[in-house]
Amino acid sequence: MKVLVAVKRVVDYNVKVRPKSDGSGIDLNNVKMSINPFCEIAVEEAVRLREKGVATEVIAVSLGDKACQEQIRTALALGADRGILIETDVELQPLAVAKLLKAVIEREGIEFAILGKQSIDGDNNQTGQMLAALAGMSQATFASKLDIADGKATVTREVDGGMQTLELTLPALITTDLRLNEPRYASLPNIMKAKKKQLDTLTPAELGVDVTPRVKTLKVSPPPERKAGIKVGSVAELVDKLRNEAKVI
Ligand code: AMP
Repeated sequence: MKVLVAVKRVVDYNVKVRPKSDGSGIDLNNVKMSINPFCEIAVEEAVRLREKGVATEVIAVSLGDKACQEQIRTALALGADRGILIETDVELQPLAVAKLLKAVIEREGIEFAILGKQSIDGDNNQTGQMLAALAGMSQATFASKLDIADGKATVTREVDGGMQTLELTLPALITTDLRLNEPRYASLPNIMKAKKKQLDTLTPAELGVDVTPRVKTLKVSPPPERKAGIKVGSVAELVDKLRNEAKVI
């Protein structure tokens, strides 16, 4: 069974993002970029499937400019077998990503796909759902446990107030939640080995997909600054301020 895992290049989660001064987007100059954390969990799960003998090959796919090769190499160092970069300088939106991944799924004969539940940059939480629909795959989002046997995937999902367990008929797609696994670190020998693994490049035109953006960002602005807090001397003073200044009691 061939497994596709989608890895997105995003601003590292430790970086405090700054909007550009003209409000047209986020300033990416000299900012550390990494694999989206939910995609790292997806890579780990895919590699575990191969180690268990359930998957025969794990293909890591990233979509964006040339720099995404870095995130594909990281996925290869973590254990993916080969990589595909779908290269474009156009800013990709979830529908375009889903159409491109669908084309790769058809081309490669993928039976199982693992995506992050959401990109930490755009917070879209759309791509997996759109891809499953377009590719006609069963889907389970926010997976926190996965077992695959006899052509079925059993997936536990975190839902409001508890856990839900679903059985999916393959071909299927899951999106990862935080508790699915704890990703490993790439060892130095594996980082070196990853440099030699196959990494192919395709373009949206080769896949026959129009990636023209359909949604326009009008403005990006930082959240309003919070006023500094104050210390009160007693419970009585706190109650007085809540009642007479904040007027919340
Ligand atoms: P989103 O719908 O943008 O929140 O993204 C959900 C998941 O879709 C991510 O965690 C990735 O697995 C995948 N994805 C979205 N955009 C890309 C991209 N440009 N390259 C690779 N994977 C992507």
